[in-house]
Amino acid sequence: MFHRSASARATSRSVPTNILTRSMSNAPSIDSMFDLLPVGAYRTSVDGRILRANAALVRMHGYATEEELLQGANVRRERLYADPKRRDEFVALMLAEGRVINFVSAAFRRNTREPMWVSENAHVVYDDNGEVLYLEGTVEDITERMANERVVAESERRFRALTERAQLATVIMTDEGVVLYASPGVEALFGVPPEAFVGQSVFDSMHEDDRAEHRAELRNVTQKTNSGRESIARHLHADGTYRYLASLGKDCSDDPAVGGIVLNWRDVTESTVARRRLVELAQTDALTGLNNRAHFEHICEARLLDARGSGQRFAMLFLDLNRFKLVNDAHGHTVGDAVLRHVADRLRRAVRPEHTLARLGGDEFALLIPIVDAADAADAAQHLLREFVDPVPARGMSFDVGVSIGFAVFPDDAGTFHKLLAHADLAMFTAKARGVSSVERFAPQMAERVRHQLSVATDLRFASQRKELFAVYQPIVNLLTGGWQGVEALARWQHPTRGLLMPGDFIATAEEQRVIGRLGRDIAQQAVAQVGEWSARFDVPMRLSINVSVHQLRDPEFVAFVLRQLELHSVPPRRLYIEVTESVLVDADDIAVQTLNAFRTANVRVVLDDLGAGYSSLAYIKRLHVDVVKIDRSFIEGLPTRRTDTAIVRALTTLARSLGIEIIAEGIEKEPQAEFLREDGVRYGQGFLFERPMPAAEITTRLASGSVQVTAESTGLR
Ligand code: C2E
Ligand code: MG
Ligand code: MG
Repeated sequence: MFHRSASARATSRSVPTNILTRSMSNAPSIDSMFDLLPVGAYRTSVDGRILRANAALVRMHGYATEEELLQGANVRRERLYADPKRRDEFVALMLAEGRVINFVSAAFRRNTREPMWVSENAHVVYDDNGEVLYLEGTVEDITERMANERVVAESERRFRALTERAQLATVIMTDEGVVLYASPGVEALFGVPPEAFVGQSVFDSMHEDDRAEHRAELRNVTQKTNSGRESIARHLHADGTYRYLASLGKDCSDDPAVGGIVLNWRDVTESTVARRRLVELAQTDALTGLNNRAHFEHICEARLLDARGSGQRFAMLFLDLNRFKLVNDAHGHTVGDAVLRHVADRLRRAVRPEHTLARLGGDEFALLIPIVDAADAADAAQHLLREFVDPVPARGMSFDVGVSIGFAVFPDDAGTFHKLLAHADLAMFTAKARGVSSVERFAPQMAERVRHQLSVATDLRFASQRKELFAVYQPIVNLLTGGWQGVEALARWQHPTRGLLMPGDFIATAEEQRVIGRLGRDIAQQAVAQVGEWSARFDVPMRLSINVSVHQLRDPEFVAFVLRQLELHSVPPRRLYIEVTESVLVDADDIAVQTLNAFRTANVRVVLDDLGAGYSSLAYIKRLHVDVVKIDRSFIEGLPTRRTDTAIVRALTTLARSLGIEIIAEGIEKEPQAEFLREDGVRYGQGFLFERPMPAAEITTRLASGSVQVTAESTGLR
C-alpha cells in the first residue's frame, strides 16, 4: 500500500511546503508556523488516525485543544465525511496518485456535528526506502463560499425562469370575453398589434375544441368559483400556427380603476408540446405507432371496468405472425421492421373506431373489440385473416407471413384483462400449431395442456437424477446389403406416473424450459458409452448419431463434454454424427454455428435431419457445411407413387450428390419405397421396414448372435 516508484517518491518528497515534517532539530519555528497557518493542517497515519492537528484545525472542529481533537477523532471516532463514500474516494485517490488537490466534500465539525464544506489538499510522505511514513494535508473551511455560490446559482435560476416566462400578455375584458384593453405583450403571443385586439372576443382566436371549457371557466371567474389555477387553450397566431397559452383570470369589475376581468396569458407551447410528446411516447409503440402494451392494458382495464355494470361483452384477439422470425433471420431487422410496419398499417385499416389495437411486442398484436356474442369475434378474426391473404411487401420483396389468431371472450372466458389476454394467447398457440393461418377460441383444456407441460417441465428437472432418461437405438442400414452402418440414439423417458414417454411428449417442453442441456448430455453420455462398449466387445466400427437442439449448441461446454465422452469410451470422433434439424438451423446464431464448426474441426460429422420438413433453405446447407442429409419421412411416405414426392426426392438426392453430401432416407416402412430409393442411388436408410428403435440390450443380443453385419463405410458414399 502506498508503495511508490523511486521517481514518484522523489517528486513527492521534493514538495517544498512539507509543513508538518519536523526538522531533525525540532526547530520551534516550524511548529509555530504549523500552528499559525490560517488553514487547518494535519498529519495522519495510513489507516486514518490523526497524529497532529494545528490550531486552526482544532478551532474548525469546535475543540479547545489538540488533545481533545485527537481524542474525538481517534478514540470516539467522530466521523468527518458526511458521505462515507467520499472517504473511500479520498483513500482511492491517495492510493492511485499519492495526493489529492482541492478535494471538496461535505463534512461535519467533529465536536459539534455541524455540517460544513471542506476543501482538502494532501499527500503521502515516504521515507528513504519508499515506505509510507504518514499522510499530511491542509483543510479549508469553504462553507461560506459554497453558500454564496448557491445563492448566485439560485438567483441565476430565478432569472432564467423569469426570462423564459417573458412571453406574457394581459387583457382586460367584459364578462363575455370582449377585450377592453390589451397589453403590448399581445403582439408577441398573437402576432397582431394590441389595438387590433380591442373589441374582439378572446374566444375568436381560440381553437374550437377548447371553447366550451373556457367559456365555463370564464363563468367560474365571474362567479368567483374558479380554482385559481391556470388553464390552457390553443390560440391561433397570425402566422397560422396554434400556440398553447396558459391563462389566469381575475374578476376586477368592482375595482373602478380596472372595470373588467383581468386575464393574464403566458406562452407554454414549448413545454406543452414536449409534455404531450412524452405522453405519446410513453403510450405508443415506436416502430408502428400503435398503442404499446402498457397503454393497451390501461385502456382495456378501463373499458372492462365500465363493462362490468353494463353487461357489455368484449373479445380479446391475439395475433401472431407465423413466419416472421424467418423474414428477420433471412433478411435482417430492417426488412423485419418494414414488414411489421406494414402489418400494423393493414391492421389499422381493418379495425373500426370502437376497437382498441396494440402491438404487444415482437410480431404479436392484440385487439379488444366490443361484441354481442362469440360469433362476432370469430367473424372479426376471419376478417383480419383475410387481410393477410396477400403477401406483405417490404423493401422490394414480398413475404407471405401468415397469421394465427386466438381469442377469448369477456366475461365468459375470463374476467380480468390479464387472464383475458393470457387465454387469447393460449388460443393463438393452438391455432399456430395447425401450421396454417387460422382462428381459435380459448377453451379450458388449453390451459390444462399448458399446466401439463409445466408439470412435465418440473419432473424433467429430476428425470436425470432419477435415471429415468435413456436412449433407444435405431439402426441405419445399407439399403443394398441390409448391413448396419450405425445407430441413431433416440431419447425415451420412463416417467414414474405417466409411463414411457416419447420425445414428442417432452423434447419441446425441455427446450422451452431450458432443461434440454442436461437431458442432451445425459443421452449423449449413455449413447457414447454404449457404442464404445459394443465396438470393443464385438469389434465393430459402429457409427453413432445423436440429436442435438439449438439450445445445446449454444452451450459453450457442450463440445468439450462430448469429446471427453468419446475419449473416455475410446470412440473415434469420426464415428460420431451430430443431427440437427432445419428449424435448428433457422434459429442458429453465430454461437451455434461456432459449436458446429468446433465439432467439425474435431472430426465429428454434421447431419441435417428432417430435410424438407421445415424451411428448406439451401443457404443453410451451405452455411453449415453439412456432411449428411436425412430426407424427411413425409417425402418417403408418398414414394413411389405420389408425383410431387418422387420429384422432390429426386431433386434432393441430385442436389446432395452434386454437393458431395451423403444421403440417408428416413421413415422407410414399405418395400416399394426402399426400391425407389435404391434405384435413385440412395445407399442408406432408416425405418420400421428394417429395424425399429430398440433398447440397448436388444442390440447387444443381435450383435452377439452374429446375425447382423456392421460396416462403417466411408462418408464419401452417396
Ligand atoms: P428424428 O431424429 O427424425 O428421429 C426419427 C424419428 O422417426 C424417431 O421418432 C423414430 O422412432 C421415428 N421413426 C423411425 N423409423 C420410422 C418409420 O419407419 N416410420 C415412422 N412413422 N417413424 C419412424 P422418435 O424417437 O419419436 O423421435 C422423434 C424426434 O425427437 C426425433 O426425430 C428427434 O428430432 C427428436 N429426438 C429424439 N431423441 C432426441 C434427443 O436425445 N435430443 C434431441 N434434441 N432430440 C431428440
Ligand atoms: Mg434424428
Ligand atoms: Mg428425422
